[in-house]
Amino acid sequence: MNNSKIWLSSPHMGGSEQQYVQKAFDANWVAPLGPNVNGLEQDLENYLGNMAHVGALSSGTSAIHLGLILLGVQAGDEVLCQSMTFSASANPILYQGAIPVFIDSENETWNLSPVALEEAIIDRIANGKKPKAIIAVHLYGVPYQIEAVRALADKYEIPILEDSAEALGSSYKGQKCGTFGDIGVLSFNGNKIITTSGGGAIVTKTTMQKDRAVFFATQSRDNAPHYQHSEIGYNYRMSNICAGIGRGQMEVLDEHVGLRRKMNAFYVDLFKDIAVVTVFTVPNEDYFANYWLSAIVIEPNQEGIDREALRLAFEAANIESRPLWKPMHLQPIFEKYPYYGKKVAETLFENGLCLPSGSNLTIEDKNRIKGVITNFFK
Ligand SMILES: *Cc1c(COP(=O)(O)O)cnc(C)c1O
Repeated sequence: MNNSKIWLSSPHMGGSEQQYVQKAFDANWVAPLGPNVNGLEQDLENYLGNMAHVGALSSGTSAIHLGLILLGVQAGDEVLCQSMTFSASANPILYQGAIPVFIDSENETWNLSPVALEEAIIDRIANGKKPKAIIAVHLYGVPYQIEAVRALADKYEIPILEDSAEALGSSYKGQKCGTFGDIGVLSFNGNKIITTSGGGAIVTKTTMQKDRAVFFATQSRDNAPHYQHSEIGYNYRMSNICAGIGRGQMEVLDEHVGLRRKMNAFYVDLFKDIAVVTVFTVPNEDYFANYWLSAIVIEPNQEGIDREALRLAFEAANIESRPLWKPMHLQPIFEKYPYYGKKVAETLFENGLCLPSGSNLTIEDKNRIKGVITNFFK
């Protein structure tokens, strides 16, 4: 029997990526600008709709950093951030010398709890400092409570930085994720729903904001024949080679979303008679998830059934699974910062597990996964 490693989420090429890369070589556009960069931005703008403007960058992390800069976040400012997320959502707050204030999740979407968010906003304002931005994340491709979070942002006039790194292809009431924030962020890292090997994008409401982001991303060069700089610059633009991979990936994005959703349905079916397991799915039909990763929560019991035991059973079969993101307020680098909420994120972290979710998993892979689960819960 084939025992090769089954990954959580590995790159899945569509076929035309190398042609775009070849064109870049043929024209010698081997640089952080060129036709593939412009083409990928155009593809993403068409895909997202909603008059989105897109700037292709070297990573999702750099997009979050530039997003904070565009929103005016400076040293000493406070930024509200979902605690349950990947560290890249929060690190750029520290790059700016600003202060993260972490917010708990709610159980429906595992994302920002509107109750904890409002509690934090009121308390920070009472302490004399109104937060400068809200970083909201669509974990594993499931949209956050779009309307409730927007209502609070409007009520207190605090802009949203929408971390849609995991949610390209997801939508809420038909509108694509990435277009809900005052600024949106996408990632094309190797494990994401589509990849440019490494890359990301910033999504803005106006051309001016996009131009500003690209200006910062290309060392903040002023308009002069020599190199002239009046602001801090960054080297955050996407390479034309990487963008070529992205152009090929855009051709198969919706197909790959469909395949990830099938993986999620596979797990829903597999666990339907196992009472201690809940598969993470959207709360209702307004939500459409790309299910970048399929995740479950296991209620631990006396018979040795828990998250870690299942993870080890997968590991023994050379199958990757991983606990959910460890909340930021529990991370050594962030634990000294304020946190608002209860223990929703903590409990999800203790009992949650991400399962192999790639759009490229074979029937044989699925059978191996099924074998481990059937054996573990028998
Ligand atoms: C992947 C990811 C990022 C960062 O994207 P990179 O392209 O890896 O820099 C940010 N936020 C979340 C939630 C992510 O999953």
